[in-house]
Amino acid sequence: MSAPLTIIGSGMAGIGLLRQLRARDTERPVTLITADSGDDYSKPLLSTGFAKRLPPQRLAAGSALELADRLGAVVRTHTRVEAIDLEARTLAIGAERLPWSELVLATGAAPAVPFRVPKAVSGRVFSVNDLDDYRLFHAALEALGRPARVAIIGVGLVGCEFANDLAAGGHDVSLVAPESAPLPRLLPEPLGRALGDAFEAAGMTLHLGRSLAGLEPSGSRVGVALSDGSRLEADLVLVATGLRPRTELAEAAGLEVSHAGILTDRLLATSAPGVFALGDAACVDGVNAMYVQPLQASAKALAGTLAGTPTPVSYGAWPVLVKTPLLPVVALPPTRGVACWRIEGEGGDLAAFAEAEDGRLIGFALTGACVRRKVELARAAPPLLG
Ligand SMILES: Cc1cc2nc3c(=O)[nH]c(=O)nc-3n(C[C@H](O)[C@H](O)[C@H](O)COP(=O)(O)OP(=O)(O)OC[C@H]3O[C@@H](n4cnc5c(N)ncnc54)[C@H](O)[C@@H]3O)c2cc1C
Repeated sequence: MSAPLTIIGSGMAGIGLLRQLRARDTERPVTLITADSGDDYSKPLLSTGFAKRLPPQRLAAGSALELADRLGAVVRTHTRVEAIDLEARTLAIGAERLPWSELVLATGAAPAVPFRVPKAVSGRVFSVNDLDDYRLFHAALEALGRPARVAIIGVGLVGCEFANDLAAGGHDVSLVAPESAPLPRLLPEPLGRALGDAFEAAGMTLHLGRSLAGLEPSGSRVGVALSDGSRLEADLVLVATGLRPRTELAEAAGLEVSHAGILTDRLLATSAPGVFALGDAACVDGVNAMYVQPLQASAKALAGTLAGTPTPVSYGAWPVLVKTPLLPVVALPPTRGVACWRIEGEGGDLAAFAEAEDGRLIGFALTGACVRRKVELARAAPPLLG
């Protein structure tokens, strides 16, 4: 029997590719290997479950077993691939050597934690980047049996979405970050401040312009020391200081990678023949967008290529919809340097236009009632990967 097409990773990229592939080819043997539980779930739902106190099982659309059955694939869960041998075309899993015919890396991105977490508080410090993480954090909140005091470190998309969701779930939320306003990579400062105002109006405490100096035990709580000498106490700490593409496996095998991911061309082909990458792990023709629409387009294109029709991927001008119902936010950040931001509106209803030197629209950001302009502006903006 010939070696299977092998996919590493059961996130939205890995499972999305398998689904797209099965729509074109029901026969080809496929093995999907994942370090986690292999549950079929939508990662964006992780930052919407605490408001409704959703148990983890309500976030999963199906188990790995159901997935294997439905899509006719071998699914190996809680299995970490330790190395890729490009010459022998095998994967190393402990002493086992697993042959592959073609290989797809959908290894995602891992939380980047830029400080040390002392062992004495590690049971109260969390990152939520997959369903297994959600299970742990959900259990810690439930174990308190009362609304928790949660300190969130980081005010990017993940930190802000969890802040909104946990506050809506009745928890007491503090946000800590060195930047002067939330969502610094998506929004110009006045729009970030509008989101911060909405958070404060909802009872959150913002500690901005200060970074984390250290974590220490404080009775049954965690003491959170800040760079300006101030200190707060929390039952639980949620670290949301960014995600880094998981490139280690690829890099050790000798594939070309950068800090932005495993390098691929528009066919999602890496620097080694028969090896592909997509999703948060991949930097496609210089772009690693790290959200769902680009990975869905990649899964569709790669399925076509693997089924025999080479299909280059392209990304449209797809804005990011930030799930902060306290103040809705939509942003299409410019991929190249902004000549200037032009801002219109007042209060929480703001529209910011990123314009190139010649006046062309190259990105935008919208808050509050202005989010309704997203379709009109996306039509005028350049594609992420044209
Ligand atoms: C809280 C949160 C909310 C989000 N909300 C939105 C949103 O509203 N809209 C949006 O567009 N995007 C959102 N995103 C981003 C989006 O969810 C991600 O871009 C997407 O889920 C990434 O999928 P992936 O399959 O590439 O990676 P992942 O989901 O990270 O999957 C990686 C897989 O690889 C496996 N793996 C890694 N290394 C190995 C190994 N060595 N051996 C075996 N298996 C391995 C892992 O176990 C995992 O199964 C959100 C992200 C987060 C964290």
